[in-house]
Amino acid sequence: LSLSLNGSIYRNTTIHHSAKHTSFIHLTTLHLPSLSSPNQIAMALQQGENRVVVNVNMMKLEKLLCMKGGQGESSYANNSKAQALHARSVVHILEETLDLVHLQPPPPPHHHQSAVFQVVDLGCSSGNNTVDTVEAIIKHMIKRYRAAGLDLPEFAAFFSDLPSNDFNTLFQLLPSDGGGVAGVEYYSAGVAGSFYKRLFPARSIDFFHSAFSLHWLSQVPERVMDKRQSAYNRGRVFIHGAKEATVAAYKQQFQADLGAFLRARSVEMKSGGTMFVVCLGRTSPDPTDQGGAGLLFGTHFQDAWNHLVQQVGRALAISCRSVAGVLVDAHIGEELSEQLFLRVEERATCHAKELLENLQFFHVVASLSLA
Ligand code: SAH
Repeated sequence: LSLSLNGSIYRNTTIHHSAKHTSFIHLTTLHLPSLSSPNQIAMALQQGENRVVVNVNMMKLEKLLCMKGGQGESSYANNSKAQALHARSVVHILEETLDLVHLQPPPPPHHHQSAVFQVVDLGCSSGNNTVDTVEAIIKHMIKRYRAAGLDLPEFAAFFSDLPSNDFNTLFQLLPSDGGGVAGVEYYSAGVAGSFYKRLFPARSIDFFHSAFSLHWLSQVPERVMDKRQSAYNRGRVFIHGAKEATVAAYKQQFQADLGAFLRARSVEMKSGGTMFVVCLGRTSPDPTDQGGAGLLFGTHFQDAWNHLVQQVGRALAISCRSVAGVLVDAHIGEELSEQLFLRVEERATCHAKELLENLQFFHVVASLSLA
């Protein structure tokens, strides 16, 4: 029983908006049985199943995080039009940044080398946004090379995201033979890894692009998940309304992450290269006020969570009855027993959170042998 209940950890996202202010999404964890519905939980409890412990806290976030793959109803590919619209609205800033990239003159003929323009989309996810963006970048650079009367370099595009990203769907969206940008083909490759680390050889990249990705932190700050720390974000999966110590822990994580990101890129970028970054923002200077995002990822998410936890309370009551029911029936009769367990259920539902946190069963295990 205790294994089932302490089974798994559920993960949720938190967004820090910042138009003027530093912003980031952070992840935090809550305890939830590893079964998908309260009925399943009740059934498993009745059947005395022990579930394998999957502890997301212990798993590296970078091995786990990704947007929903494929092209189904809830896939990122099908739900990222808002990001695409936003990307279009800042395309003039993207082009200004591209105008700052140094154009490479073709190497002298005896060098047996050709110039390569290398562009990277960091946190590309899977879907058309990244392909459209990379192609817009290449198109703009082709225009610049042609306007400067220079031979075109070869173009290479790197689509980079965490290893769990759905690169398969992404690769299928890339232009097949003969396709390209403005009649120019480009080479493409997927690069799996965290952008908080080095991903490319030194001085190899002309242009880095990253949209709506940098607000994802590399990890949940440990202090936020440690019950003994003042930064512990008790009962919350979101920074909205959190206390100062929690905010400070996230801020520190963000600063460390952003520093690591910039250090890695500063080595990888060719001299004369540039970078364009867009991430989520918030309008309030107060990081605990997440505005609209606070409602969706905070309040409503939190309420739904609490509702789910209450249903777990019901499953616990059923489990209690499965163990003690027969004896109680024998003592007070079935009718009264029914009434009693209904009240156990009410109480377990009301105190579900507390129960989940504190319910533990200790076992004595003995191994005996006969000499
Ligand atoms: N740029 C795309 C997708 C944004 S979704 C667009 O504009 O539509 C955010 C992406 O960032 C996700 O695919 C997620 O996996 C990726 N991401 C988050 N943390 C990352 C990290 N540390 N390294 C690389 N990618 C990361």
